[in-house]
Amino acid sequence: MTASMPRACVMGHPVAQSRSPLIHGYWLKQLGIQGEYVLKDVAPEAFTEFFTHLAQHGFVGGNITIPHKEAAFQLVHRREPAAEAIGAVNTVWLENGKPVGGNSDAHGFIANLDETAPGWDVEGGHAVILGAGGAARAVAYGLIERGMHVTFVNRTFERAVNLAQKYGHGAVAARYDELPPLLTRADLLVNCTSLGMTGKPPLDADITPLKRGAVVADVVYVPLETALLKQARARGHRTVDGLGMLLQQAGYGFQRWFGAAPAVTPELRAIIEADIKAKTPGS
Ligand code: NAP
Repeated sequence: MTASMPRACVMGHPVAQSRSPLIHGYWLKQLGIQGEYVLKDVAPEAFTEFFTHLAQHGFVGGNITIPHKEAAFQLVHRREPAAEAIGAVNTVWLENGKPVGGNSDAHGFIANLDETAPGWDVEGGHAVILGAGGAARAVAYGLIERGMHVTFVNRTFERAVNLAQKYGHGAVAARYDELPPLLTRADLLVNCTSLGMTGKPPLDADITPLKRGAVVADVVYVPLETALLKQARARGHRTVDGLGMLLQQAGYGFQRWFGAAPAVTPELRAIIEADIKAKTPGS
């Protein structure tokens, strides 16, 4: 390593489980860039100092994960519009030495849809989003930017109402028992809950009423094909998985830190799939 070599990191606590070094390491090698992306376990009490002195710690930026996302949101000098609207910063880079905060999840979700299900963004289309947490906020931002009407369906109805009010633009909230009629009109159904993930309860949603031709997406990527996606594929719907989103969102930071646009190749996907399978038996 040389002193001028760009270095980025994922800041979290704990952070050992992150697949980001695998993804960025692949791109650095593939693009022949002399750079580095490492895990950085930063304890909560050390975060402010670390984050506000990234350059002194040898970094040009990085990703922020649990439990530092709120702190990063507050500490950045400036936020990109997506991060501001979503209310979360998960990517940071330096401008004139000062930390700028972005959110890669909306970008990752939309880029993956564009790649996997071209033509998904029908004019005046309707999307049903299951969930009203962080992933739902990011996905909705991306969909609304692309002109979709959005309905949030969430266990805690108030959270769905709050999110719909926050976004405006015709975004509405609904309860799970209203799902069947909503599905008959939906052009896109997205699971943004943690349900269906290995170790979590299953997502109990009957998609029989779903409009023909609707695209079904899941942000969960362990297992790689969730029960929702399996059910959708069996019914002839185009499906979009969470791993594609994870890979696409990583490119958002890479470009800012290392100055090159990386590609989500089948080879990269296979590397991460193998890692997931090795670490999650039965996935
Ligand atoms: P979060 O903020 O904690 O939100 C979780 C959501 O799931 C909430 O809407 C919650 O409903 C709902 N939920 C949880 N347990 C439930 C249950 N038993 N029944 C009904 N609803 C339930 O989490 P998040 O950050 O949005 O993450 C959600 C999922 O997205 C995670 O699996 C995460 O790994 C995944 N994700 C993937 C990517 C990617 O790149 N592929 C990116 C971000 C997140 P309540 O409001 O009622 O609690």
